[in-house]
Amino acid sequence: MFNKNNTVELLCVGTELLLGNIVNTNAAFLAEEIAKLGLSSYYQSVVGDNAGRLEESIKLALSRSDIVILCGGLGPTEDDLTKEIASKVAGKQLLMHEESKKRIEDYFKKRGIKLTDNNFKQALIPEGATVLTNNNGTAPGVIIPYEDKFMILLPGPPGELKPMFYESVVPFLRKISPVIFKSRTVKVVSVGESVAETMIKDMIDAQTNPTIATYAKTGEVHIRVTASGKDEDECDSLIKPIIRELKNRFGNNIYTTHDEVSLEKAVVDLLLSGGLKVTAVESCTAGMVASRIVNVPGASDVFKYSLVTYCDEAKHKLAGVKKSTLEKQTAVSRETAEEMVKNLDAPLKSDVCVGVTGYADGEDAGHVFIACNVHGRVEVREFHFVGNRLKVRESATTQALVLMRDAVLKFLSEIAFS
Ligand code: ATP
Ligand code: MG
Repeated sequence: MFNKNNTVELLCVGTELLLGNIVNTNAAFLAEEIAKLGLSSYYQSVVGDNAGRLEESIKLALSRSDIVILCGGLGPTEDDLTKEIASKVAGKQLLMHEESKKRIEDYFKKRGIKLTDNNFKQALIPEGATVLTNNNGTAPGVIIPYEDKFMILLPGPPGELKPMFYESVVPFLRKISPVIFKSRTVKVVSVGESVAETMIKDMIDAQTNPTIATYAKTGEVHIRVTASGKDEDECDSLIKPIIRELKNRFGNNIYTTHDEVSLEKAVVDLLLSGGLKVTAVESCTAGMVASRIVNVPGASDVFKYSLVTYCDEAKHKLAGVKKSTLEKQTAVSRETAEEMVKNLDAPLKSDVCVGVTGYADGEDAGHVFIACNVHGRVEVREFHFVGNRLKVRESATTQALVLMRDAVLKFLSEIAFS
């Protein structure tokens, strides 16, 4: 059907976007998904809720791209113009789509809200267009053919746009894309981005298909391997040897090769595999380590509690840090961190305890000690993080997870060999 380059252009509609009242997250989402599908995109723009300028923008987009994705302005109100103007450009009449009308009636009935006449405006569909069902709202999406091109109209709210994109637009775009793209992400800790890049410089220099790119995250480096091929199997077979080579080079510093696995998920899985229960004693992170662990479904099988021992008195009375240590070594010291995690039996029994103490701001901002105790084997690490208060706390949280992972891995391999 499509013999051209299949270029896709985004046109986001809304005066709110132009004024900066809302951030254009739809554009970022759509752009990334389009690239993943192997389609090229050379332009994206934003236009306000103005009939004349919208018409002009649509015509311009159609003059230089094969598929124009419009988002926003499909609602019931006067300023929602996208469908009306797109139909006008395509020279199509708007007709009532009975199925969509019924869906809108049901949607309102279910919620006990009174329908007004303008709600049915959303069920008007341009002649010859394909209707995209909206399972999360009332405005259906539409694909309008125009000469040998297409306009794809999607609702503005991201909670409606994203599912509609995955359910209806991806299958449509896949059909017209000559190749598919598939990515895998190798996630690395304990190695900085520039070191990581140097370690694989030869691979990056030699890349064609798959491509290899590194991305720095807080305390992590993600290496994205992207292959293009005629189908998933071809992509997988291109990606596999690269992943194998990355494993050779980074070894245990890779905590996952799966996009969906976060660092905390990897830690929780590791604790689960060893049947270990964890507790945390946190000062400057004040519960952030606990929160990241609890973000993982199933965390209740490994996580017991976290103490937020912010002041010295709490470190002494709740975590059992000696008064003399706090006085002589101060609260931010190797000794304090070590004592924060030393008692695996109090107040509840656990196998692993992680402790964090440090300065999030002030003269010594970023100076942090993190300790981890796994059945009496204690390791303490010292860090000098950079950045503002939040960044320091986030870095400390990530490094607490990294230390836990390292310490638990070490413990599990030791008991396996003993
Ligand atoms: P509605 O039926 O809610 O009016 P709509 O399809 O007409 O939906 P808009 O009126 O343009 O969409 O936007 C509705 C809301 O959707 C906005 O207030 C905003 O919260 C969100 N939204 C719209 N466009 C974007 C965008 N490009 N990025 C992120 N959010 C957006
Ligand atoms: Mg609207």
